[in-house]
Amino acid sequence: MLIFACETSCDETSLCLMKGSKIIKHLIFSQEIHNKFGGIVPELASRAHLEKLQEMAQIIFNTSDIHPEEIDVFAATCGPGLIGSLLVGSTFMKSLSISYNKPFVPVNHLEGHILSTSFNNEILFPHLVLLLTGGHTQVYMMKDTKNIELLGESVDDAIGEAFDKTAKLLGLQYPGGLEIEKISKDGDEKYFDLPKPMINEKNFNFSFSGIKTHVSLLVKKNILNRKFVSNLAASFQKTITDIIIKKLLSGLDILNQREVHIKSISIVGGVSNNMYIKNRLENIFDKKEIKLYYPIKEMMSDNAAMIAWACIKNYREDKNDIFFKPQARMKVNEKL
Ligand code: ZN
Repeated sequence: MLIFACETSCDETSLCLMKGSKIIKHLIFSQEIHNKFGGIVPELASRAHLEKLQEMAQIIFNTSDIHPEEIDVFAATCGPGLIGSLLVGSTFMKSLSISYNKPFVPVNHLEGHILSTSFNNEILFPHLVLLLTGGHTQVYMMKDTKNIELLGESVDDAIGEAFDKTAKLLGLQYPGGLEIEKISKDGDEKYFDLPKPMINEKNFNFSFSGIKTHVSLLVKKNILNRKFVSNLAASFQKTITDIIIKKLLSGLDILNQREVHIKSISIVGGVSNNMYIKNRLENIFDKKEIKLYYPIKEMMSDNAAMIAWACIKNYREDKNDIFFKPQARMKVNEKL
């Protein structure tokens, strides 16, 4: 099956041509227009997607041997995300599907992330998925390839959002995740004792907004020199990682009591790029003989390859729906 997929749920414009399990062409354009605002401006994001999509599609077809007529299915992210951006990407793909008289499949962005590690790994079940992005922090359980259950999520800020907001408070550039990781290398991670909200609750829910408030109080009381910023960034990164590890470990205990013995965990979404978090998780779970899976590099942040893959992986004809309306809020389908 040859799929042409589009992802425009936030500030990445991405197109992918995928055949079976082979990426033929994949382009990701990260919008830089938001950097000076320290966060995403939805109206600007929609316009930037609109300006870029046609040019990117032309590059894809000019540089591959494939003609759009050969495509079997057109797919696009239809939620959750910024509604204007979703409308731009999905309408673009719907128009192509009408022009070439081929099916259109709406894809859930979260399912794209969740299924991303099955592209490069044989998943061992029962399986946990830790979704760490700028918009979501969620834990899912999959007992098999077709069933997925949300076990818990952040009750306030998403983890990526916490990184971005903290980076902004520390005077670092947007997007903040990378900047915090970089400057943390020079800092003392034990220097500041930051709060760890909800850490002792026996569930998979998280809370990150209190840490950001604490950081903001420290920033007000101190001079923002390099030493202070690197110590606070390192302490912040450590605290966030401590929370993830503690919550995962206590969550695994709860599942064990339910006779569910998790064999593998996928860490997906843009934050899975963070090497500090990755190394600490590996240290813990290697000892427990629980396999950790990561997506391939180009499927970590928002991208169309994971959307194409989610479409291929669970393709059924009844998923074709040209009239599907994009939705800003959308849950994961429990039966894939
Ligand atoms: Zn995402």
